[in-house]
Amino acid sequence: MAATDRMRAMAVVDYARPLERLDLPRPSPSTGEVLVRVLYCGVCYSDVKTVTGRMAFSAHLRLPHVAGHEISGEIAAVGPGVALPVGQRVVVYNYWGCGACRACRAGQENLCAALRGWVGFTTPGGFQEYLVVPASHVLPLPPTVPPERAAALSCATGTAYRAVVTRGQVRPGETALVIGAGGVGLHAVQLARAAGARVLAVDVDARKLEAARAHGAAATALAEGAAAWVRRLTDGAGAEVVLDCAGRAESLALASEVVAPGGRVVLVGYTVGERYPIPSAETMMAEISYLGSRYVLRHELARAIQLVADGVIQPVVDSVLDLEEANLALARLHDEGAAGRIVLKVAAG
Ligand SMILES: [Zn+2]
Ligand SMILES: [Zn+2]
Repeated sequence: MAATDRMRAMAVVDYARPLERLDLPRPSPSTGEVLVRVLYCGVCYSDVKTVTGRMAFSAHLRLPHVAGHEISGEIAAVGPGVALPVGQRVVVYNYWGCGACRACRAGQENLCAALRGWVGFTTPGGFQEYLVVPASHVLPLPPTVPPERAAALSCATGTAYRAVVTRGQVRPGETALVIGAGGVGLHAVQLARAAGARVLAVDVDARKLEAARAHGAAATALAEGAAAWVRRLTDGAGAEVVLDCAGRAESLALASEVVAPGGRVVLVGYTVGERYPIPSAETMMAEISYLGSRYVLRHELARAIQLVADGVIQPVVDSVLDLEEANLALARLHDEGAAGRIVLKVAAG
């Protein structure tokens, strides 16, 4: 490690301009905290929205801001009272709940009303070399999982885990339709398959559908005409679970059109301001459940990491770029999307 108290960062200085390379002071851990050296950081579509000012909190966010919330790193130093070993590879859990609000007390840190930290969103993220994290909010990374792959764990794999397992409750023999086979979607495909479902995937991009088939989708289709296609493959019944990883009016329209009676629609992608009317008669008569699914809880993320360590699912990395190429990564994600995570190499040797 270089003997310096500065670190490289790619930061938002203005929502209308590309990220700028800044030299920022390296933070140091206080009691109960660890200093994480960021090895790799995944780039998520949420980062595109954050750096261009399209999040609900954007108007109030103080700039410059460092985005990035798919952090794979190692413990570089620990604050007083922390027993974790320096050098331990970790994944950062992004929501640092207040511990006191109603949601936190109910064990739903992902719904905390007063987050102490929301990594990369409202507090500093991983597009920089170091980050201070509460020791309770790093999860150990098994040595068999390469750190660049772990940069698709915290958000892409974790979010998909909660959507498929906890909220969607995908069961063996069911048909699960995944709409949007990007970062979260490709992991939802794998998890639904691992849960024993027959997985169908829809996207607007043939490349992502190819990746979906490579990761366990039984059949895939382009979005155009997808409703008739799902009905044909399910003998008219529809899909028991629809995982909407796109969060657009079009994807919600497709979901409500093809969900089977008694089925669940899990909203895991979202677009601020986007709306789609829920058909009241069909929803009531067929007992359709519409469920939101937000990020993942720590114990769920630990299980997702275990599934990766056991080889049941595989974090999908599209490509690895340097930290200084963050603007290129964001532009590619915005313009073309990616079949898996685009990952930035941050402090890795
Ligand atoms: Zn994300
Ligand atoms: Zn709270």
